[in-house]
Amino acid sequence: MNLIDSFRHQGLRKQLVNLLIEKGITNQSVLNAIGRIPRHVFLDNAFLEHAYQDKAFPIDEGQTISQPYTVAFQTSLLNVQKGDKVLEIGTGSGYQSCVLLEMGAKLYTIEYHHRLSEKAKYTLGQMGYKAQFFCMDGTLGLPQYAPYDSIIVTAGAPSIPETLMKQLKVGGHLVIPVGDSANQTMMRIIRKSENEFQREQFGQFRFVPLVGKHGWGK
Ligand code: SAH
Repeated sequence: MNLIDSFRHQGLRKQLVNLLIEKGITNQSVLNAIGRIPRHVFLDNAFLEHAYQDKAFPIDEGQTISQPYTVAFQTSLLNVQKGDKVLEIGTGSGYQSCVLLEMGAKLYTIEYHHRLSEKAKYTLGQMGYKAQFFCMDGTLGLPQYAPYDSIIVTAGAPSIPETLMKQLKVGGHLVIPVGDSANQTMMRIIRKSENEFQREQFGQFRFVPLVGKHGWGK
């Protein structure tokens, strides 16, 4: 793990933030978080040089670290406020987790693959962040700590798991990409009352598949 944040990395990161602004990201706290977090720490050595390109890259277990634009877009839709209780499904490298933590979220994050969960826990710990890590099927949510101000799913789902909708606070946001394996629509579900949910659709994205009981299965 390369924790050193050189001037070169900082410069490249500033360019990345400018690119995200050009691509339409306006949420200042999201931009600030991305501007502060050394993304190269979350990548394997082979990709260090590319850490500040707006691209997804492979991590272990055939998974990917999401593209910065995707992280920025999804996080903007969540509307995270400092102190919010947030549930993340798909810890992966821990980069998206780090953005949420930097914005002041109280984070519960679930990853299916043990190795990825352990690695992200180690990386974020070394960086000085505190979160609760769980290794299990995230499509079941985490009812023992519910309800959440927001829930973010960072893998492509076949449909919106009702289990997750039920774990939202009234007023809470669920952001989840829904579609087939090639293409997903970013969806936002806002819980308006106990039984009322508002659904909105945003652009097209491409994520690795959400596995598990309410995902694509094993
Ligand atoms: N947010 C991550 C993106 C990781 S890719 C990052 O910034 O790096 C999506 C992740 O979701 C993968 O690591 C995959 O293993 C995980 N995943 C897929 N299905 C899951 C499930 N049912 N429960 C928990 N994690 C899951």
